[in-house]
Amino acid sequence: KGEIGGSGDQHYHALMMFTKVDKSRSLQDKFRVAMLSMVKHGEFMEGEVLVLHFVSDPASKELGEKMLQEFLLDATFKYEVLFHDVVDLTHKLFPIVEAMQKYFSAGSGAYYSDAIFFLSVAMHQIMPESLTRIVQLDLDLKYRTNIRDLFKEFDRFPPGAVIGITREMQPVYRVGTLAGQGAALARASGTPTCPGTPGPALFLFWAAVLHTFWQYRKENPRTRVGDPPPEGLPGFNSGVMLLDLGAMRESALYNQLLKPSNVAKLADQYRFRGHLGDQDFFTMIGMEHPELFYPLACGWNRQLCTWWRDHGYGDVFQMYYRCEGLVYIYHGNCNSPIPDY
Ligand code: UDP
Ligand code: MN
Repeated sequence: KGEIGGSGDQHYHALMMFTKVDKSRSLQDKFRVAMLSMVKHGEFMEGEVLVLHFVSDPASKELGEKMLQEFLLDATFKYEVLFHDVVDLTHKLFPIVEAMQKYFSAGSGAYYSDAIFFLSVAMHQIMPESLTRIVQLDLDLKYRTNIRDLFKEFDRFPPGAVIGITREMQPVYRVGTLAGQGAALARASGTPTCPGTPGPALFLFWAAVLHTFWQYRKENPRTRVGDPPPEGLPGFNSGVMLLDLGAMRESALYNQLLKPSNVAKLADQYRFRGHLGDQDFFTMIGMEHPELFYPLACGWNRQLCTWWRDHGYGDVFQMYYRCEGLVYIYHGNCNSPIPDY
C-alpha cells in the first residue's frame, strides 16, 4: 500500500496544504492543534510509517520544519515529513485543471495560481505511480481518534468508488429559493468569515453571482440537488478526503469527467458556478455519478461553521448541520472555535 521507498515498511500517506503559513498566526495556531491532537491519538504498528506531505512555499516550509520538531516530539510512531513545492505542483496541475477553473474559482478568469486548489482532483496524474492511496487534510482540524483508523475506510470503498468524502454540513449548495437569496443578501451586513467569502462589500457582489445550484433548483423544483440529507444531495466538504489514487487512475469514468468538454457539459447542465475549487468539482460530478464517491461518516469531518445559519438559512440550517454518532475529527471551518472535549 502506497510504497514509495524500497523498505518493507507500510506507508500511510497524508497531505496538507501548507502555504503562506508564515504570514498567518491564526493558521499557525490551527496547525498546532491539528498536529498535537494527531500525535496524541496516533498509534501505528511495528513496520508502519506515517508519511506527512506538505504543499508549501519556501518560507512556510522553513517555519513548518521548525514547528514540526516540537509537535512531533511525543510521537510514538515512525513518521517521515516531505515538503512539495507549491510552484512545481501548480505547474503540473494547471494544464489539467485550467478548463474547470472558470466554473469553480472566484472570478471569471482562470488564474494560474488558483490551480493548486484543484490538487486533489488530479493528484493521481501528478504523483508517482507508486503512490496509490493518500488522505488530504485541512489544517483547521482536531483529531479525536487514531488517524490510522481513517485509512481503514479505504477498505470499505465499493467497486467504482475513487474518493471518500463527507457531506457539506451547511446549505452552501442550496443557496436557495428567491426568498432565501433575498434574505441572505439583506442580512449580510456583518463581516462574513465564511470560506472564500470576501469582505462585506464584495460579498454582496459574489452572493449574487456565485449561487451554485440556485438556477438549476429553480428550473427543477423537485430535484434532490442541494436538498438536505438523508434524501437530498447537499454536496461535499473537502476538509477530509480519501483519495484512492490507484482507483482514480483506473477509472475510465473519472478521467472522462476531467476532460474540458465534459466539465463544460456538466457545468452547463447544472448551471453550476462555484468558488470552492476541488470541493465544487466533486460536488458537481457527485450529483451525476454518486457511485464515484464513498460517503464518509459525518463524524470523520464534523464541520463547525454556522455562517449560513445567521445569513438567511436559519430555517433549514439544522437539517444540514446535524451529525449524529461519534466525532472522530472536528473541522473548525470558517475560523470556528473547536470544543476542548
Ligand atoms: N491553506 C493554506 N494557506 C492559507 C489558507 C489555507 O495552506 O493561507 C490551506 C490549509 O490547509 C487549510 C485549507 O487550505 O486548512 C483550507 O482552508 P480553510 O481550512 O481555512 O478553509 P475552510 O475549511 O474554512 O473552508
Ligand atoms: Mn478547513
